[in-house]
Amino acid sequence: MGQLSEAAAARDAGAADTAACGKGHVSVRHLNVVYQSTRGETVHAVKDFSLEAEPGEFVCILGPTGCGKSTVLSIVAGFVSDYQGEVLVDGKPVLEPGPDRGMVFQQYVLFPWKTVLQNVEFGLKMQGVPAAERLERSLAMIKKVGLAGFEAKYPFELSGGMQQRVGIARSLVTTPAVMLMDEPFGALDAQTRLAMQQLLQGIGQSAGITILFVTHDIDESLLLADTIYLMTAHPGGVKEVIKNDLPRPRDPEIVATAAYLERKMRIMKLLQEEIKM
Ligand code: ADP
Ligand code: MG
Repeated sequence: MGQLSEAAAARDAGAADTAACGKGHVSVRHLNVVYQSTRGETVHAVKDFSLEAEPGEFVCILGPTGCGKSTVLSIVAGFVSDYQGEVLVDGKPVLEPGPDRGMVFQQYVLFPWKTVLQNVEFGLKMQGVPAAERLERSLAMIKKVGLAGFEAKYPFELSGGMQQRVGIARSLVTTPAVMLMDEPFGALDAQTRLAMQQLLQGIGQSAGITILFVTHDIDESLLLADTIYLMTAHPGGVKEVIKNDLPRPRDPEIVATAAYLERKMRIMKLLQEEIKM
């Protein structure tokens, strides 16, 4: 066995071990996605993209607009089944959406006619969780995302940041092994975004949940991620896998430290190469 294949075998054995004790191992191998446009043209959206996320890991998928980030995420979510390659969650091929994966979108897709509590309870209701347990779990999760006291409000009565808190609570309350987030804070103002990033850091660590988080924002990826998958521009592949070893917890002030700025400059240069093309 060569050195390389030995290293790969050791890594695979390690991955299998981790997956056995915790849930939420995501494996994307040599993913290729080709869309047929309405005009009959083919669009090679994702090219040979591979990713490994260990249980509890916070992975950011970072890349320029149009590089295929949402496509990768919707495939892991099970929304798109027309792809080549292998996509596994805890060893099982992804063919459709499932309770092991929760999704949070950029737009707050809440039911406008339901209250905060009813929105959060919805997934549990679908899973057939009894009413008393549903209520208890939903109230606890609403509190965790900082919305205690707002249970009876309707989405139109809430700010964007509060609506996104409901979106996160609704996804987390069903205890998925993996949470998929597609630019969830993209529509929020800068102050609210900072608050939400801090909230998510806390939740991610305490819940031990695997998070796949799509963003085009370098700062967001450096604040949140354990690992950053930097994508190439169209078609989207992996340009570089960056281990983000900045110490946790990461306060907003971390952006002014030398270690942070050095990492940011490096990623900026790599991204610039893609945007110029
Ligand atoms: P990102 O989320 O990084 O902005 P997307 O995954 O949305 O990128 O899109 C990647 C590429 O695939 C883009 O060129 C986009 O125009 C194209 N694309 C996305 N969805 C479709 C679709 N349903 N049909 C045809 N082309 C698509
Ligand atoms: Mg997108």
